[in-house]
Amino acid sequence: MAIQKLKMKHPLWVMGKPFYDLKSYYMNNFSDRVYKIQIDAGFTCPNRDGSRGTEGCCYCDGRGSRLRQQGPLPSVTEQLETGKALYRRLRKATKFVAYFQTFTNTYAGINRLRELYEEALAVADIVGLSIGTRPDTMSPEVVALLAEFSREYDVWLEYGLQSAHPQSLEKIGRGHSLEEFNAAVTLLAGTSIKLCVHAIIGLPWEDSEMVFKTADFIAGLPVAGVKIHSFLLLDGTPIYADYQKRPFPLLTRDEYVRYVAGFLERLPPEVVIQRLTAEGYRDIFIAPDWARNKLQVLQHLDRYQKKHNSYQGKLYISSK
Ligand code: SF4
Repeated sequence: MAIQKLKMKHPLWVMGKPFYDLKSYYMNNFSDRVYKIQIDAGFTCPNRDGSRGTEGCCYCDGRGSRLRQQGPLPSVTEQLETGKALYRRLRKATKFVAYFQTFTNTYAGINRLRELYEEALAVADIVGLSIGTRPDTMSPEVVALLAEFSREYDVWLEYGLQSAHPQSLEKIGRGHSLEEFNAAVTLLAGTSIKLCVHAIIGLPWEDSEMVFKTADFIAGLPVAGVKIHSFLLLDGTPIYADYQKRPFPLLTRDEYVRYVAGFLERLPPEVVIQRLTAEGYRDIFIAPDWARNKLQVLQHLDRYQKKHNSYQGKLYISSK
């Protein structure tokens, strides 16, 4: 079958992808490549310390960053300087974002949060913050703090949602409700903090209709970015223990690619796609085998999108 030419190209998608990729976003806003440096600032998670739960989400291995597994954590400044040196050497990078990634990065008192974020922003060439967190740890005080930084820096909050279906949040053991997620989104109204929502594709009990409903739900939010993760079976997780007792089917790569393309078609074309598949976890990775090779997944997605004239926003209907 002949491969069709894409019929849609949005002016924001300057890197030539059929979606608004993160590189395009940085080019548009900083006229340069910007690299996110992952930080483990020593936070914990309310879904593990007993505040919301002790088991964690069913797919979470609970180990935290590799750095944490190696011993006492270096300071935020040290972690950023190490990351900067690496990206400078490998990519000739000059601008960086401090990405507070490990566990729940708003889960501390407001003074401690200010101290950590200010430490990151004081490091030379840091142009922004990206803070991964759970909606149930957000408060007006945290929003006010980040709104203050967002007047000068590019500030993103990354909320884990994973699925817009209450029964899925229950099955995952997220320890928060959809209502709490919605309330945390509402807290950001009127600020210039950018919201990125995380979703998982491939939860074993979700079919394509459920996945696409999550996409439609996210498309209806005041969202600036989305991260899509593939569902992975990892050693030491509750869901892998279930799988060992009673194996269940996992998505094939072709199915995953089709779901991702359909997900993107339902999102507004201005939403930045920060991730398209999960990566890492090499030492505890179990399945699905195809997910080990991120590059191949992206190549298959590219082919699928060309073949089916699939692009971000193709099925998005704005209510504005
Ligand atoms: S919220 Fe994040 S860190 Fe906490 S248990 Fe779930 S996946 Fe793990």
